[in-house]
Amino acid sequence: MPSENKCPAATLTTGEILHGFRVLRVEQLPDRRITAYEMEHEKTGAKVLHLHCDDRENLYAIGFRTPPGDSTGVPHILEHSVLAGSEKFPLKDVFNELLKGTLQTFINAFTYPDKTIYPVASQVHTDFFNLACVYTDLVLRPMLLKETFYQEGHHMEFTDPDDPQSDLVLSGIVYNEMKGAYSSSDRLMGKAIQENIFPGNIYAHDAGGDPEAIPQLTYEQFKAFHRTFYSPSNARIFLYGDIPAADHLAFLAGMLSGFEKIDVESSISSQKKRQKPVYVRGAYPLSKEETTERKTAVNCAWLLAENTDFETSLLLKITCGLLVGSSAGPLYKALIDSRLGEDLSPVTGLEDDFKQMVFTVGLRGTDADNAPLIEELIFETLRKIYESGFDSALIEGAIHQVEFHGKEITRGAMPYGIALMDAAYHTWLYDGDPLIGLNFSRVISLVRKKWEENPKIFQDMVKKWFLENQHRVISLLEPSKTYNEERDKAFKQKMGALKASLSTEELENIRKEADSLRRFQATPDAPEAAATLPRLNISDLPRTIDIIPTDKTIRNDIKILQHDIFTNGIAYLDIAFDVAHIPDDLQPYLPLLAKLMTGMGAAGLDYEAMAKRIALKAGGLSCHLTAGATTDGRHNWQKMIFQVESLYRNVEEAVKIVSDILAAGDLSHRERMYDLTAERKNDLHASVVPSGHVFAGRAAAAMLSLPAYRDEQWHGRTQLRFISRIAEESKADNRELREKLTDLRKMVFRRERLTLNMTADAEGLAILSEAAAMITGQLGGGEEKCAPEIPLLSPAYLGIAIPAQVSYVAKAFKAPSYADPLAASLFIAAKLLSNDYLYKHIRVQGGAYGGMCQYEPAGGILAFLSYRDPHIVRTLQVYNDAPNFLAGEMVKRENLEKAIIGTIGALDKPMDPATRGYVSMIRDFTGLDDGLRLNLRHRILDMTEKVLVEDMARFFTTAEKSSSVVVVYGEERRLREANAALETKLNVEPLA
Ligand SMILES: [Zn+2]
Repeated sequence: MPSENKCPAATLTTGEILHGFRVLRVEQLPDRRITAYEMEHEKTGAKVLHLHCDDRENLYAIGFRTPPGDSTGVPHILEHSVLAGSEKFPLKDVFNELLKGTLQTFINAFTYPDKTIYPVASQVHTDFFNLACVYTDLVLRPMLLKETFYQEGHHMEFTDPDDPQSDLVLSGIVYNEMKGAYSSSDRLMGKAIQENIFPGNIYAHDAGGDPEAIPQLTYEQFKAFHRTFYSPSNARIFLYGDIPAADHLAFLAGMLSGFEKIDVESSISSQKKRQKPVYVRGAYPLSKEETTERKTAVNCAWLLAENTDFETSLLLKITCGLLVGSSAGPLYKALIDSRLGEDLSPVTGLEDDFKQMVFTVGLRGTDADNAPLIEELIFETLRKIYESGFDSALIEGAIHQVEFHGKEITRGAMPYGIALMDAAYHTWLYDGDPLIGLNFSRVISLVRKKWEENPKIFQDMVKKWFLENQHRVISLLEPSKTYNEERDKAFKQKMGALKASLSTEELENIRKEADSLRRFQATPDAPEAAATLPRLNISDLPRTIDIIPTDKTIRNDIKILQHDIFTNGIAYLDIAFDVAHIPDDLQPYLPLLAKLMTGMGAAGLDYEAMAKRIALKAGGLSCHLTAGATTDGRHNWQKMIFQVESLYRNVEEAVKIVSDILAAGDLSHRERMYDLTAERKNDLHASVVPSGHVFAGRAAAAMLSLPAYRDEQWHGRTQLRFISRIAEESKADNRELREKLTDLRKMVFRRERLTLNMTADAEGLAILSEAAAMITGQLGGGEEKCAPEIPLLSPAYLGIAIPAQVSYVAKAFKAPSYADPLAASLFIAAKLLSNDYLYKHIRVQGGAYGGMCQYEPAGGILAFLSYRDPHIVRTLQVYNDAPNFLAGEMVKRENLEKAIIGTIGALDKPMDPATRGYVSMIRDFTGLDDGLRLNLRHRILDMTEKVLVEDMARFFTTAEKSSSVVVVYGEERRLREANAALETKLNVEPLA
């Protein structure tokens, strides 16, 4: 992460030519400490953007415009397939080799509606160039074997592979991935809008692939798509990090040699504006036992300005933020207060991954009859806003958010460079200025100037782009209990008819091709092929650990942790309360308490005023729950953690907000309480199908350890059941709920249960320390203990019925924590199983989107998971055979080394400043000190085949017998079919 408050000195000048690249522009972005170079390769026309800064996590991304001509998913299937292998690197799956044998901190590929991007990142320079070299070769010169197309795209096979008389079915990784995606109501909502807002445009197609259309794609079309669009002349290469521009250019010159400039027709036309709104109706799958009442979503979407029209798109972004960006937004509020639906639709917001932006707003948890009322309400509210204007505090809050998020250095699952990459492509892809959105100081002064010139500017935007804009879609998405059944039936009929039309010879051909695909998948790469990939050695890995600066003190009996870290002027405060003493029956209320405390009013202000105050003074305010075991596995911790972040100048007010919430949070506004409860219920419900593997893993682990049990209680299906009941019960009368929460709050927000965790540089820490006294002064204290009851844990076999066309299969084992001698082996074994065994059997051969093994020492769990899986019984068999894979000669030195590199890479994953501070606090709760971390690292680095094999044999012998739990999330019909074949039957239950 950048650590100095200045831009690197420019090393190239505009007009200069270096290594065949012409420098078009050099510009500094002081707020981000970046020096930017825009360049072009003279010979091929490849465009290059380099953002030079002092972040050592360098990022390389090559992107192409890939406008789809249909919904066969050809850009997506190609995205998967190019990474399989190239002439220079003739392996069957290079991507997976890079994933496991390098120190990559990020390696992926993304299919967007109109572009495909291939990013890689690493903190080690040699590793970075190795990765970038292989990636570029794969993308520009892939093999694109027929087998790869069958495997990643689609192919036919028989349910009994050897018997052409058995049923004919379709398989393929993208095919199953998209079947999973098309089971999610959120995805179907977005699809309906996209198709109808862009009729006749490339965006009317699904670049990801519609499962109905994917089988129509031919191998020839697939290869032709690559020939057409994957040329340096159609490429935009994005670079970010501390490597100097000249080094990048020398590298790129080598990669692009041999290519000429060609004409690529990849321009994207704008959608012509319609003069009339369009009304559409669609359906999504719902479980049999659920009621269809109040399960419909109604959305209204408008086609807006071009991304490249910077001024208009900026003003539109602010306007949309004002309308629905917080609970103080007037359109947000009007929709919620109307009670026409339960909460805002999940697709609400501005979408800028198209050439022209789209804004959507709507309600879910409603009925079809309400659609005209919802539409009327939206327009009536917009008219009122146009007439009376926006509250200026709301506008100031929106401008403050631009400043805050411009300044903040964030790295969640993705490198910071990825966020900048996304922003650059939003304009660059359409031949606009790639830097325009990155310069937030300029953005802020432009907004202020426009607002000063015309105080009604945002009202005018509402009038022009929403009230008078007839190019809009009103979309209704209704639940259907027969959705999957109908599709299954139609599919079976289609395949049956197809089979009946084929001759014996043709059927035999299908069998042969499927058979040769299986043989191809089962044959290992030749050693010469594997040797083509650049490799790291164990000796290249540092034997030291990254130490997070931490200063521990106790002030007035409160534990305070401080981390002196450069944060670019932002202060982070974590306020953690121990909740281990809360009785088991009250634990499920904690997540709701967290949501209400941060979403209601406080200290005499209603929630709307509070939301404005937060937007104006804080970058964010949230509260979550988390639990873990100590390193010896003997104790555990359970915490409720508030997090607030703000610019240094706002720290005092931001901390005052939290202090007001803790001391005087409002629990009296019945409607608001119900709305937040319903929102939580709907969010959790909608996340089950897209994250089925997480839910299945949670439910399985819950029966094995207390931290995992809490996780399920707070975030899993148990919580979904709980919150659904509470939402129903508290609809009419919430007195009981209010009393419970009021009592609970008194039990949680206490001085003796508090830890404060602060992250900022010395200046920020001083400001934070002073402000934090406000919190401790307000809290109640004194002894109040109640004995925690430990819930009973027992192994089980469960099948949870969900409306999805694919399954999620989890098997969990109780596993020891960090300090146990087995920990190093468990870390490596989980990597090895994920990289090799599960990848091959669950994904490559099984056709599931993913299969993985996770070791979570703090949760005390080792788990196998599958994602968007067409199988259940077969997958469980693969899990059962896993111990055999880890026995004896199957564990080769080479694979072990890759697993060690991958394990170390995961432990060394870069973190943003806020996360470093947070992780240090979690380590403190766990008792994971730096000595233990160093020792564990050495044990991982020094692992031998012999120790690993012995350790894992020991682990699985006891684990399999004493503590294995299986949970499958899938369609009820499939669960029952699986039970017919399973020895130990799954106990089939409905989701909620
Ligand atoms: Zn995919």
